[in-house]
Amino acid sequence: MADLIEEIIARARQERRTYLLEHECKAILRSIGVPTTNCLVARSEDQAIRMSEAIGYPVVLKILSPEVIHKSDAGGVKLNLGREEVREAYNELIARFKGRNVIGVTVQEMAKPGLEVIIGATRDATFGPVLMFGLGGVFVEALKDVSFRVIPVTERDAQEMMEEIRGYELLKGYRGRSADVASLKDILLKVSDLVTTHPAIKEVDLNPVFAYPDASIVVDARVILEEEPSRQLFAAPKADLSAVFEPRSVAIIGASTTPGKAGFNILENLLRLGYKGKVYPVNPKAEEILGLKAYPAVDQIPGQVDAVIIATPARVVVDVIRDCAKKGVKAAIIISSGFSEESEEGKRLEEEIIEIAREAGIRVVGPNTTGVFNAENRLTSSFVPVDRVTSGNVAFIAQTGLFLGVLFEHILSSQRFGISKVAGLGNKADVDDADILKYLAGDAQTEVVAMYIEGLGDGRRFLEAAREVAREKPIVVFKAGTTAAGAEAALSHTASLAGRVEVFEAACKQAGILRVHSFEELLDVVKAFSFLPLPRGSRVAVIHFTGAGCVIAADACQREGLELAELSPATVEAIGEITPAWHRIRNPVDLWPAIERHWVETAYGVAIEAALRDESVDALVVSVFAMPRWETYTPDFELLRASGKPVLFCVEGNEELVKEAATKIEGQGFPVYPQVNRAIFALSHLERYARLRECLAQGSCA
Ligand code: ADP
Ligand code: MG
Repeated sequence: MADLIEEIIARARQERRTYLLEHECKAILRSIGVPTTNCLVARSEDQAIRMSEAIGYPVVLKILSPEVIHKSDAGGVKLNLGREEVREAYNELIARFKGRNVIGVTVQEMAKPGLEVIIGATRDATFGPVLMFGLGGVFVEALKDVSFRVIPVTERDAQEMMEEIRGYELLKGYRGRSADVASLKDILLKVSDLVTTHPAIKEVDLNPVFAYPDASIVVDARVILEEEPSRQLFAAPKADLSAVFEPRSVAIIGASTTPGKAGFNILENLLRLGYKGKVYPVNPKAEEILGLKAYPAVDQIPGQVDAVIIATPARVVVDVIRDCAKKGVKAAIIISSGFSEESEEGKRLEEEIIEIAREAGIRVVGPNTTGVFNAENRLTSSFVPVDRVTSGNVAFIAQTGLFLGVLFEHILSSQRFGISKVAGLGNKADVDDADILKYLAGDAQTEVVAMYIEGLGDGRRFLEAAREVAREKPIVVFKAGTTAAGAEAALSHTASLAGRVEVFEAACKQAGILRVHSFEELLDVVKAFSFLPLPRGSRVAVIHFTGAGCVIAADACQREGLELAELSPATVEAIGEITPAWHRIRNPVDLWPAIERHWVETAYGVAIEAALRDESVDALVVSVFAMPRWETYTPDFELLRASGKPVLFCVEGNEELVKEAATKIEGQGFPVYPQVNRAIFALSHLERYARLRECLAQGSCA
């Protein structure tokens, strides 16, 4: 059967066709066990009639021509033909396409009406082959109601693809019509397999597939071939990144004596933060910079140089890299800009640099970036002044060069979770997101990975690396730049529907990546992971000081897929003791009546203790207020920690007092949010990841 497929492809290539004809596609499908309407090729009127008799009426006639791709648009499809109509239909088709390269007319059974589904495969520029599923007809045309997964897909992926579309309800059954989900899933898996095993196939379009309650059948099929056999992406063996993050010695090339210049600031940052390694300024015109002896070139430094930070003008970087190769440098962080991001000439320079570096085994970060930071050895390559750093368990990977500068400062000054590593990747000429992810998988300091992505080079490597990391550590991604890249002049329907955003989204699901949609959400979620244990389930208790807060919290729980815990009788009783008799205790708990009677210490104390002890509560969200003439509640942190459950706070009120309270609470390792819905949003990601990790561990998500 593999031979049959190869044979059909070879014949098409011989005839200089880049796509397969309907009867060829259907032969391939049948050979892999996908049911299709039979498809005989008639080359004369009489033949058409004989075939129709054999198939049984009613029949369908379609033009078969390498010049007619969209058959019905061109008037090349005749449906529902009885015995008397075949001859005329045949002649009409032949007459209509006179003068074109017509091979014949296909004769096929008229499939009984079913739910129309489209199944397809196409190639994404970043992720390679992807699979698509959607409801056919108006649903695809008008609503673009389709879902994607990167090929190869698992059974679970196939199932999720169907559940994801808005029309899933129609598949399951609507007004007596339903679709056999199992047979559709089987087709999805077989198409995934077909594309995987035959790299010559670029696109597949099964449009439509008719789905019935007990079976599915492909009614029309189209296969587009690669122009030339696809090449496997060149994967050079690359050295690991230890020299990038853990060099024992660093040279700053282009070190400057002028305060404010990049080459000065980098050196100053290294000294101020106390980098635990040797530092060598390189500048042919200086004797000494910031008290350190300067060298004219990297190969004149006496000892070993593990890494260099390059801040020279772009045009001299090629020479610098040559010197580095001679010196045996293992990592180069290129701060300089003026490369592929700017001009063709810059692109050429960048390629030359990478070629030299690859040959010499030098890993390159950048160019056009602020580079890296490592809290452990206090290494930084940033030219933006950094005064202090809180060490911790969160690693950031970001595309933007300024990340290690301005945004880093924003995090350091506004957040109280700590940082382990930062990688600003710039142009990603060599080191990319996948490389950093692989490194972080083995980094003991990193427990959470936050990413800001604009574009990816090799999506498949990224997917694999992310999948590996996500088994152990959550990855939270904020992807910007989601404007769809148009698939112009796409031959297949599938290709025209496969926007970059949709495919990226699908890949994230397959990798176990958590996606957020703003920088604020990224920090909110990462903070929760940084501070808290994962919940054992999805049942949340919320304690709030107003009824409005309770309503907002309940809405947020529902929106984010969390459950409001059913409080146990013991919990209701305990809180009932401190609240007036008329007040009915339920979750979310409106604590105000209790606060009015006993004030915050007792009211919050009793409610929190009861909720944490409650077996039916997996996580707790507590909202407190910070007001000028009122005492702010301070939790019993020991009690919170001892519970082993994630507890998130929300503090509202006077801006300065809020900040004071938040500092105190976060200082004890519990995240604080300005509004209860943001706390619940963050918590929902902990819960999602807890579920995801379980299924990644079982291997069923992979
Ligand atoms: P194209 O996509 O090239 O325009 P199709 O072969 O998909 O042509 O035919 C157009 C439409 O005709 C299909 O969407 C389907 O609704 C209907 N159709 C085609 N072939 C059959 C068949 N064998 N049985 C029933 N309906 C069919
Ligand atoms: Mg069609």
